[in-house]
Amino acid sequence: MLEQPNAQVMIAGAGPVGLLTALVLAQRGVSCVVLEAESNLTLDLRAGTFHPPTLEMLNQVGVADAMLALGIRVPRWQSCDLTYGLVAEWDLDLLNNDTPYPFRLHLEQHRLTPLLMDKLKAFPQAQVLFNHRFESLTQNADDVTVRINTPEGLATWRMPWVVAADGGRSQVRKSAEIEFAGYTWPERYSVISTTYDFSQLGYTENAYISDPEQWVAVFKMPDVGPPGLWRMTLPVAQDVSDDVALAGPYAQHAIRRFTRASADVTYPLVHQSIYNVHQRVAVQLRKHRVLLAGDAAHVNNPLGGFGLNSGIHDAMSLGAMLARVVHGEADDSLLDLYHRQRHTVNTEYVQHLSVKNKKNLEEKDPEQRALRIRELQDTCADPVKARAFLLNSSMVNSIARANAIL
Ligand SMILES: Cc1cc2nc3c(=O)[nH]c(=O)nc-3n(C[C@H](O)[C@H](O)[C@H](O)COP(=O)(O)OP(=O)(O)OC[C@H]3O[C@@H](n4cnc5c(N)ncnc54)[C@H](O)[C@@H]3O)c2cc1C
Repeated sequence: MLEQPNAQVMIAGAGPVGLLTALVLAQRGVSCVVLEAESNLTLDLRAGTFHPPTLEMLNQVGVADAMLALGIRVPRWQSCDLTYGLVAEWDLDLLNNDTPYPFRLHLEQHRLTPLLMDKLKAFPQAQVLFNHRFESLTQNADDVTVRINTPEGLATWRMPWVVAADGGRSQVRKSAEIEFAGYTWPERYSVISTTYDFSQLGYTENAYISDPEQWVAVFKMPDVGPPGLWRMTLPVAQDVSDDVALAGPYAQHAIRRFTRASADVTYPLVHQSIYNVHQRVAVQLRKHRVLLAGDAAHVNNPLGGFGLNSGIHDAMSLGAMLARVVHGEADDSLLDLYHRQRHTVNTEYVQHLSVKNKKNLEEKDPEQRALRIRELQDTCADPVKARAFLLNSSMVNSIARANAIL
């Protein structure tokens, strides 16, 4: 679309965070246009764990029931060790009085985006434009001038507000010259999916297995329907090339190492991928009329399943605040509160906990490893301590912390 759409907010990126931000705005009567560089919603395998407060939020916008119908409920998950076996089994029933959703929900992220698209269709003031790539922006006190690559050629639009939901490599963030502070881990993570049923080995639908050489995180995912798939995430050493890590023998060896099977056992493989892992937070989630959300604002390792969840929390918060500003119900300093709340919890909570989870899983010092195992066992055995642990790992505390920031 070359001509300027009539919208109060432009959102770059039709991933889960961009679409949810659009839906929150549309439900509050704000017109918006979402630009997506690809020709369709993306299908690649990424996040797939939804925590209780995220489900509560997605219920507010009307998609939680459809997600529950498609996903796998995980009321108990495990902390294990490859040598010592089961360390702790966490029962989310302990959060019964804290949330109507006392479980994790496993559902592929690419099955949430069509649900959000469907909801958006009810709002003519919300448009999603595929094959529209955000290129660059400049801004002044009144608006943002945005350059876009459209199927008909380059277009220049002027928009009152721009939201960056264009992922970790955000071109909006780069164009607005916002620093993405943090670091990239030297190792990459491999994702391997198999139809082999790990519950035969005693694992619940989600388990984290520590090991000084190669930890493993397993998730049972719904896939296209029963019996579903088992997904493993594990680190790939720096001296292993992508080509080697993506070949069948690497995956077979990794699964056998995990299941303790002999060298002649092979497993059915459905999918393999590899990706770089980062811990970064943008130093400003607001720069005048440009706002960052989701991976454009922060990225973290996947241990604990916080990345997409925190992006959804951003979208809910930003959509509600921006709607109030657009309607003149609040002045734009409300958007500084968005920065303070979401930047603080991402740094204090998502970054801190995901790094701690990673270090715990890969701990090489035998004494530290034994100490950590005892701590987890003690915590799990005491319902008061276990509930406190679960309030943190389920992100309930991060929402309370954000709401307490004024
Ligand atoms: C390979 C990979 C694996 C992951 N695995 C896990 C995992 O196992 N567990 C976990 O918790 N998290 C995982 N994550 C993180 C999780 O997927 C993200 O937190 C989540 O996708 C964030 O959603 P988002 O909408 O912010 O960004 P994205 O889902 O990245 O969506 C961004 C959208 O913007 C579009 N876009 C990009 N540039 C432009 C542009 N210039 N103009 C217009 N559109 C643009 C993209 O095409 C895309 O549709 C993974 C991420 C990646 C990249």
